Amino acid sequence: ASEQHLERSNSMGVNLANDDQLRALAEQINAEAARPWRATPLVPGANPAGADSAVTSPADRRQVVGHWQAADSATVEQALDNAVAAHDGWNETPAAGRAAILEHAADLLEQRMPQYIALCTREAGKSIPDGVAEVREAVDFLRYYAGQARKLFTPEALPGPTGESNTLQLSGRGVFVCISPWNFPLAIFTGQVAAALAAGNSVIAKPAEQTNLIGYYAVKLLHEAGVPEAVLQFLPGDGATVGAALTRDPRVAGVAFTGSTETARAINRALAARDAAIGVLIAETGGQNALIADSSSLPEQLVKDAIGSAFTSAGQRCSAARVLFVQEDIADKVIGMLAGAMAELKVGDPGQLSTDVGPVIDEDARQILVDHAARMDKEATLIAEAALDDDAAHGCFFAPRAYELKSLDQLQREVFGPVLHVIRWKASQLDAVIAAINATGYGLTLGIHSRIDETVEKIAAKVKVGNCYVNRNQIGAVVGVQPFGGQNLSGTGPKAGGPHYLPRFTTEKTITVNT
Ligand code: GLU
Repeated sequence: ASEQHLERSNSMGVNLANDDQLRALAEQINAEAARPWRATPLVPGANPAGADSAVTSPADRRQVVGHWQAADSATVEQALDNAVAAHDGWNETPAAGRAAILEHAADLLEQRMPQYIALCTREAGKSIPDGVAEVREAVDFLRYYAGQARKLFTPEALPGPTGESNTLQLSGRGVFVCISPWNFPLAIFTGQVAAALAAGNSVIAKPAEQTNLIGYYAVKLLHEAGVPEAVLQFLPGDGATVGAALTRDPRVAGVAFTGSTETARAINRALAARDAAIGVLIAETGGQNALIADSSSLPEQLVKDAIGSAFTSAGQRCSAARVLFVQEDIADKVIGMLAGAMAELKVGDPGQLSTDVGPVIDEDARQILVDHAARMDKEATLIAEAALDDDAAHGCFFAPRAYELKSLDQLQREVFGPVLHVIRWKASQLDAVIAAINATGYGLTLGIHSRIDETVEKIAAKVKVGNCYVNRNQIGAVVGVQPFGGQNLSGTGPKAGGPHYLPRFTTEKTITVNT
């Protein structure tokens, strides 16, 4: 195991326990935040027309963070033409050459960490620790897929009984469209793009509308590292026009998408409806993630992990815990401790080092949470609501809440924010709890807190999820170590940051020579 460990290492990031390092970082972030950020389409030969729109901070809507310009339809067309023309050259570049460029980008990103953390904090409302984690994960994706490409693209000889020489070769599929989410605007954006590029595809990246600036500066960095401008193009715009125009176009070979299950379905339909080769869809979607705790779990640890899993990143992770199933015997104690711990949360300006929970991404997201809370106030019992800082008055803030419910049926869909739902269960009901979780149709993460091996094994075996975490929190999958992604309504697979991801971006060719 130690040898395997030495084969590659993950980005070190910043030691958040070291006050001096942290203060220096905060100063650099502040200096970076003052820049006049601007995102435009990055499409060689295009002259996009259209006015700039302001980007405002989710933490304070009065603050303009930068500007961005949407791609018009002529720019989308030009991008598709460029991507088709650029594909063969990039695909024929040896995989080691592509990998070296991605590794160079990883080095640049690590060196410029403060700039990218500043962008994540200002545009996406990320806390500083979340910003550090974003950069680290993006760096990890770049290095991991580069390493995978070096291995995978070495042609494999398949000796056999035919007496011929048989070789299996991989190559890029063609034009890949990467449609990324605002909740991991740097990490998932970079991960999708890095995988598609490493595999020899030309790429059109369409970021979530809320995080165009971060996507733009990630693409600029990849260009600087050596990815040709026509091989990686950037098309900001809204999903209904830019995204839809791309996914229905017969020139597109595949789409990597992270976002809602509904949008994944729409993309799938668009790809299937084209008079073209059937496009590949790699989709990572939502979850209705449970945490099951039995009476053998340690309450202190459980509450810490439940809070971390439910409220980190303001609950805006598809891995986040939404429902804590706690066994009756310890339920009162756990609920009491949960309320106590929530009273300690600092909810406010994500630029402050002491902040635990920053804003949600925008006003629409906040309104969905407000509406959900209004329904819960009627149908469930409020356990606790965290306090908002005074500095939260002008931003899209929603203070973390916990509610006790009677049954999982009271939640129809994923609520994407800092709301934890608690349901009690009795020893005789474990099978029913497992059945209820599976009946949601989602299958992303599952937390288990128990000191009883048989219980852990049973739950882990029976719950249909992609990532199962035992006696720890259930967020923050590490690239290459904890491949991430779900099943059923939660996504198509393969898992990001895992060994099966890159092959899905490729086609295979067997060459048989009669020797
Ligand atoms: N990979 C992230 C985690 O493990 C979640 C990704 C997402 O929210 O899309 O927390």
